[in-house]
Amino acid sequence: MKADIRVCAAWRERHDRPVYTLGDTCPECGEPAVNSAPAPFDPADPYGEYRRAIKRRNRQ
Ligand SMILES: [Zn+2]
Repeated sequence: MKADIRVCAAWRERHDRPVYTLGDTCPECGEPAVNSAPAPFDPADPYGEYRRAIKRRNRQ
């Protein structure tokens, strides 16, 4: 069985380390939580664009 663990999409900006959650948003800062499975934590921040896309979608 595969756990659906997500990580705060903005943890690099808001936290000192990745904040994991099973919910849709970060329990600490309220930012969207993204699935941590597809990509490892790359210092190049592959989530930057994804995070902006989520915010754009939520606004509509
Ligand atoms: Zn957070």
